[in-house]
Amino acid sequence: MALSAVASTSGTQEGLKFTPGPILLLGPPGVGKGTQAQELMAAWSIPQISTGDLLRSNVSRGTALGKQAKEVMDRGELVSDDLVNQMVAERLKEPDTATGYILDGFPRTLKQADWLDQHLSAIPGSLPVVAVSIEVSYNQLLRRITGRRICSLCKTSYNIYLQPPKVDEVCDLDGTPLTRRSDDTEEVFEERMRAYTSLTAPVVEHYRALGLFAEVNGEQPVNAVTAEVMRAVLHLRS
Ligand code: AMP
Repeated sequence: MALSAVASTSGTQEGLKFTPGPILLLGPPGVGKGTQAQELMAAWSIPQISTGDLLRSNVSRGTALGKQAKEVMDRGELVSDDLVNQMVAERLKEPDTATGYILDGFPRTLKQADWLDQHLSAIPGSLPVVAVSIEVSYNQLLRRITGRRICSLCKTSYNIYLQPPKVDEVCDLDGTPLTRRSDDTEEVFEERMRAYTSLTAPVVEHYRALGLFAEVNGEQPVNAVTAEVMRAVLHLRS
């Protein structure tokens, strides 16, 4: 089914409003979780909660949390479970999460997954999480990460190899010079992949074992990946 068809059938099911509930997007750095989260957010009017974005916002605002997190993030290691769980707990209190939300980059350890499972089971009426793992090969991830550039003004994302701007290193939309995330170097990518393999891959297995889980091929055009992710969520919620 084409994306437009999935999107047009996804807002309602037999006349009832579709309630997405908590959705986890799992997968290594650069797999496209952020891009897919934006698509789901637009289709289902639910917020994207990216722990990486929340942490980066704390770093740029110079908060106490940001000061603790910055060096760890620049090394490609994981920020402590307690700090991240607390940050997510605060975000989940916001009213925009009532019908669902997309967690992007969380949980990243089994401790975070256990915390989330317990936290949600204590909220009356909360739906169980559905987890979608996006799969992409190592070499493709490396190109996506080292080629990633972001407009510091409008946040549009480019890739100098796969989706370059019309003029080198300048945003097509507003002419602002593009920036590179400080952790998007090859060296830090390797460290992030090590952290993923040892700490986050077991989280994927945790949700696979719970059953509300699907795997999606991330090496397709963005629209095709989105259609697969949406189909998987609709199926798991049916
Ligand atoms: P991301 O934008 O998801 O790639 O995250 C960037 C960095 O933020 C990671 O390399 C970690 O240092 C930190 N981070 C993001 N989410 C988490 C998390 N759930 N647990 C621990 N650290 C995190």
